[in-house]
Amino acid sequence: MPQLLIATENQGKIREFQELLTGLGVELVTPRQVGINLNVVEDGATYEENAGKKAQAYAAASGLISLADDSGLEVAALGGAPGLYSARYSPQPGATDADRRAFLLENLRGKPRPWLAHFHATIAIAAPGSELRFAEGNCYGEIIPEERGTGGFGYDPIFLIPATGKTMAELPMDEKNRLSHRALAVQNAIPILRLILGG
Ligand code: IMP
Repeated sequence: MPQLLIATENQGKIREFQELLTGLGVELVTPRQVGINLNVVEDGATYEENAGKKAQAYAAASGLISLADDSGLEVAALGGAPGLYSARYSPQPGATDADRRAFLLENLRGKPRPWLAHFHATIAIAAPGSELRFAEGNCYGEIIPEERGTGGFGYDPIFLIPATGKTMAELPMDEKNRLSHRALAVQNAIPILRLILGG
């Protein structure tokens, strides 16, 4: 069975990719499992640049077909912030996901609701001897002022999907994996993966 490296250290993303890619007929491996620990600087100007940089760095280090994503939360009332900087959105060094959620809510305080927002994910697939390929997905909702739910990671407890009446952190994993930006990006990536893995 061919191997596919999930090129991230984010355990929340790894869990989701493992669910999303079951049935593809590949053995999914993580950087830790293949003994790789890279610190790829995400200094690109776009999600594509960052995802591509990560996928290429891991493919070069492992010799394996590698899938990376770059994702973020875009809040309309904040002009699309934190966007590309979602993982680092806090004035404090060493901030946690909870600190970043608190900082986001602080910046929204006093702004009229609903605080419309969407998550974006760009997936990049790097394969030795083949050009970089990309797939994208978006998930639309709104930020709410209080945390709800304990699932997921990152901004999930304050991201409400109105059609479900639940935050992403209240959704069971299988439901998040039907609706999320990453799930939609994976759906778009599957034909590309089949092509690369089959060829
Ligand atoms: P990066 O793709 O590693 O740059 O990180 C993206 C950041 O966006 C994460 O660290 C989270 O803060 C946020 N993010 C991306 N996807 C999700 C998600 O599914 N739920 C909650 N937060 C997310």
